[in-house]
Amino acid sequence: MPSEEQISLFDWHEPTVANVTVEPEQISTDPQVPIPSGFYETLDQLTDHCHQCQRCDLALSRTHVVVSRGNPQAPLLIIGEGPGQQEDATGLPFVGKAGQLLDKILASVKLDSQQDVYICNIVKCRPPGNRTPTPEESAACKPYLLEQIRLVNPKIILLTGATAVRGVTGDKRGITKIRGQWLTWENYLCMPILHPAYLLRNPSPEPGKPKWLMWQDIQAVRAKLDELLDSPLSFER
Ligand code: SF4
Repeated sequence: MPSEEQISLFDWHEPTVANVTVEPEQISTDPQVPIPSGFYETLDQLTDHCHQCQRCDLALSRTHVVVSRGNPQAPLLIIGEGPGQQEDATGLPFVGKAGQLLDKILASVKLDSQQDVYICNIVKCRPPGNRTPTPEESAACKPYLLEQIRLVNPKIILLTGATAVRGVTGDKRGITKIRGQWLTWENYLCMPILHPAYLLRNPSPEPGKPKWLMWQDIQAVRAKLDELLDSPLSFER
């Protein structure tokens, strides 16, 4: 064996999963087969795989896979339940009436929904009739969500509504019981908040009502962000 060939045996490259090129068609259609943490190097790679995903039956009725909108470097990550009709039609999360209200809620504390947040959902394909995703559908899609969280690495995660709380943390308590409370999940600071769609159905601004509660919560989120980023002026516009 030539000496160059012998010495090349000492070349060692760590065989990390992220270094392996996996084509979308190689992603298993079996939701029991996990997608390990660190699988994706980039969100673009993840998005490409999601667009071709068949891991659950929601793939059969979707128009578009809805992966995310906003800034992948944002300090605030917002997780909703799943795409609705307009999201399915456009391929973007939170663009219907509830999404427009979410943008207004963020703007009320000077957060821009394109620059300061990254928005995604528990499931990336629309459940027919806007029903709640089943636990099996949520579990099938969760590896993608976990990879999004890992790659964005936000300072704070907002969980909008009970399905988002349950899908991420497993906590089955009612959203009205735990909204506004800080909790730690996998070393991430999270806050459950009411879903904007709930506010659309309950528009009263009176103290103690959903809209008033959201105002308290989003102010607490903004204050915590300023504290964590240690530069309160960085978000001023
Ligand atoms: S909801 Fe998620 S797991 Fe199911 S087909 Fe869509 S991307 Fe795949």
